[in-house]
Amino acid sequence: MINNADIQFGEVTNENGEKVELTRGMYSKLIEDEDREKRKEAYKAYYKPYLQMKNSIASTLAAAVKNNVTTSKIRSYPSALEKALFGDNVPKEVYENLIQATKDNIAPLHRYSELRKEKLQLDELRQYDMNVPLVSGVKQEISFDEAFETMLKALAPLGKDYVETLVEFKKARYFDVRETPGKRSGAYNLGVYGVHPFILLNHHDDLDSLFTLVHECGHGVHSKLSSQHQPQITARYSIFVAEVASTVNEVLLIHYLLDKEKNELVKKHLINHFIDKFRGTFFTQVMFAEFEMLTHEKAEQGQPLNVDVFNQIYETLFRQYYGDALVFDEEVKYGWSRIPHFYRPFYVYKYATGFASAIHIATKILDVDKATLESYLEFLKSGSSDYPLELLKKTGVDLTTPEPIKNTLTQFAELVEEFSNL
Ligand SMILES: [Zn+2]
Repeated sequence: MINNADIQFGEVTNENGEKVELTRGMYSKLIEDEDREKRKEAYKAYYKPYLQMKNSIASTLAAAVKNNVTTSKIRSYPSALEKALFGDNVPKEVYENLIQATKDNIAPLHRYSELRKEKLQLDELRQYDMNVPLVSGVKQEISFDEAFETMLKALAPLGKDYVETLVEFKKARYFDVRETPGKRSGAYNLGVYGVHPFILLNHHDDLDSLFTLVHECGHGVHSKLSSQHQPQITARYSIFVAEVASTVNEVLLIHYLLDKEKNELVKKHLINHFIDKFRGTFFTQVMFAEFEMLTHEKAEQGQPLNVDVFNQIYETLFRQYYGDALVFDEEVKYGWSRIPHFYRPFYVYKYATGFASAIHIATKILDVDKATLESYLEFLKSGSSDYPLELLKKTGVDLTTPEPIKNTLTQFAELVEEFSNL
C-alpha cells in the first residue's frame, strides 16, 4: 500500500516548464530521455520518498525476512531458502550455482558499463545513465497488423501449427490491443481452462510493443496447448516455466530482425535493446536473488537488519555486478527499498533461470535441432504435470548443472563484443 497508493514522488519539470509530481509512468519514459538533466531530475524525484521513509521500509522488510526465517525454523526446514524452493522441488544448489556462475562471468557486464560511459561521452557514469538507449535516431512506427505479420515470420521456426494457432487467435479476437480509459497498464495473458487465452496489450506502434506482443503470445500458446493436453488440475503452469515460453519467442524475434536488417544503425539499436533486456531479466534478477540470500543468512545468524545493513549489502552487490565504471549517487544503495518482489521471498531467480533456459532452447531451434523443437512443443503441452526442473530436462536444459547458465553468459559476452565492434 505504501508503494502502490500512498507514495508521493518528487517534482519534475514538464514540457511547459511547470513543476509536476512525477508518476511511475512518467519515470519509465524520463529515465530513458536523451537529455541528461531530465534523467537526473526524474531519478532524484523517484528516490525521494524512499529515502524519506527509509526506516519504515527497512523495518517492514526486516520483519518480512525474519518471518520467513522463523516459519522455516518452526517447520524444520534447514533454511528459509530451502523452504521457498521446496514447492518447486528445486535443490538449493540450483540457486547457489546461478549466483556463482554469474559472478564468475561478470566481466562482460563491467565491460558494458564502460561501453556506456564511452558511447555517452561522460566523465562520470551515473545510475541515471544506465537506461538511455545508446543508439539514437532510431524510431520505428510498427502498426499492430504489421507487428503481427512480423511475429508470424519470426516464429516460423516453431512450425506451422504454432503459427496457425496465432492466426486463429487473431481471427477469434482474443487480443485487447489498445489503451482505453480505466484499462490496466502493461500486458498480460490470462489463460482460462476450457475457454481460451485472453491477451491484454497496450499497443503503442513501436518496437517495444512488437516484443511485448511476441512475449504475451508465448504465454497465450502455452496456455492453450496446456489446457488442451492436460486435465484441469495440471493445466496451469508454474512461474518457473512460464517465462521460458515467452522468452523463447523474444529470442526468435531478435534473431529474425537482426538477420533481415541491412541498416547498421537499426542493427546496433536492436543489439542494444537485447543487451538491456538481458541485463534487466538476467543480471538484475540474479543480483536481487543474492541480496535475498545474504539478508536471510544474516537473520538466520541472529544478526540485526536495518537501513545500514541493507544499504551496505545492496551497495556492495551493485558494485560487484556493475563494476568500477559507475560513480554512485547517494540513492544507489537504497535500491532495496523500492523492490516489492522482496516481500515474496526467493522467487525472482526464476526470471533468470527461465531466461537462461529460453536462450538455450531458442539457440537450438535456430540451429534446426529437430529433437529440441519437438521436445519444446511437448513442453508447451505439459502444464504443471511434473516438477519444473523435470519438465525442462526433457527439452535438454538441466539446471542442476552450470552449463545452461554458462552458455547464457557466453552469449551475453558475444553480444557486448559485437555491439562494441559496431
Ligand atoms: Zn511474461
